[in-house]
Amino acid sequence: MKVTVIGTGYVGLVAGACFADFGFDVTCIDKDESKVAALRAGTVPIYEPGLTEIVGRTQTNGNLHFVSAYQDAIPNADVIFIAVGTPTKDEGGSADISAVIAASEELAPLLRGCTVIATKSTVPIGTGQRLDALFRSAAPDADVAIVSNPEFLREGSAVRDFVEPDRVVIGAEADWAASTMRALYRPIEDRGIPVLVVDRATAEISKYAANSFLATKIAFINEVADLCEQAGGDVRSVADAIGLDTRIGNQFLKAGPGFGGSCFPKDTRAFVSSSERLGIRQRVVSAAVHANEARKLHLVQRVADACDGDLSNARVAVLGLAFKAGTDDLRESPSLFMVPELVRLADEVRAHDPVAMPVARDTFTGVHYGETVDECLDGADVAVILTDWPEYRELDPKMLAGTMRRNVIVDLRNMMDADTLEAHGVSVVGIGRREPV
Ligand code: NAD
Repeated sequence: MKVTVIGTGYVGLVAGACFADFGFDVTCIDKDESKVAALRAGTVPIYEPGLTEIVGRTQTNGNLHFVSAYQDAIPNADVIFIAVGTPTKDEGGSADISAVIAASEELAPLLRGCTVIATKSTVPIGTGQRLDALFRSAAPDADVAIVSNPEFLREGSAVRDFVEPDRVVIGAEADWAASTMRALYRPIEDRGIPVLVVDRATAEISKYAANSFLATKIAFINEVADLCEQAGGDVRSVADAIGLDTRIGNQFLKAGPGFGGSCFPKDTRAFVSSSERLGIRQRVVSAAVHANEARKLHLVQRVADACDGDLSNARVAVLGLAFKAGTDDLRESPSLFMVPELVRLADEVRAHDPVAMPVARDTFTGVHYGETVDECLDGADVAVILTDWPEYRELDPKMLAGTMRRNVIVDLRNMMDADTLEAHGVSVVGIGRREPV
């Protein structure tokens, strides 16, 4: 079976490389020619553990190809995945599917024979129907089925998530298209992983519902954390106490700086707006979106409070810029809001991230980067932990105490060993727990 994947970002490249590793003949298209040239030369432009090895292996064995021209990969394809970005539109919160439409319009005249076109991009409810109409008009003679095949992988563990997902969801209206898709996922289904074949609208809704539910869990525990700070509880223990209830589950119950990344913020907004277009109000998810927005302001104030309310003479060290550990992705990271605010308020801001600094350098102004964590912390009044990179947990308390000026850590990920640090004279301000008096 010949597979074409349009878009070589976190989703398209991982899907393309993994399908090639299953043994299929895969061609990935990207309109960004420099990306295609880099990939052909074996350079993977994103940070994703394990991906470079699979891309190398499958290019060498001839299963994986990269092109920038649609005509080189569309006519012979049995299945075409669309995996381009669907960011939030500037106004209203709905998803911008112009890249999905552009890709569809470009591929339509090149179709030959019987083809499944599967949306891997996260698209608003009803997009499958809209694409049906587009292909009926742009390729009236082609035998095409539009399928929704949402992707649930997480950046940082994308390869593992793709190969060992909790489930695969295929939303198809035609039986032949469902069977073709199922054949692609056979190596996964053969390992006992559920492959759910549903109608297209169900698949589209499932993706938004999954991300909205997880984001709501995070927004919820963050408000429990606020309560703990006032009432004297510890949110980590509350999360354990409720998370051990199997009806609740212990994941996505870590209080922190709020949800970010390329999916949760935009998908919650799009879920609300695409429901509203159908006359349905999503009150619960709307509240989670608003709670998450409000949180960012509140946390900048926490950093100022750690310096007696005034950062104007303070040197702030920001540890972690990516929206979570394991990725170089800055999209909707809490750092995008917090770093410019800190630059505005503080005397000096230094920053460090193990993998996101190249992207950060093109993003932030007024920030000095420390090549090492020690360099970033040198002479800092306050250190703010924004990303849960494991190496920050391993920082030597003696080094911290000897390097910083004021010895205060604002740990927005609740990841540091506060007792040990405090024993070395470093005070730790966490999330959702009463500070020592
Ligand atoms: P990305 O921005 O990393 O990559 C998109 C790629 O598509 C880019 O390389 C871009 O050059 C290319 N592209 C754009 N328009 C094109 C066109 N017309 N023709 C060819 N190439 C084109 O995006 P991503 O993070 O991989 O996300 C893709 C989709 O998958 C989004 O809808 C996203 O919501 C969804 N998704 C993302 C994740 C994630 O963790 N990143 C997880 C699940 C689902």
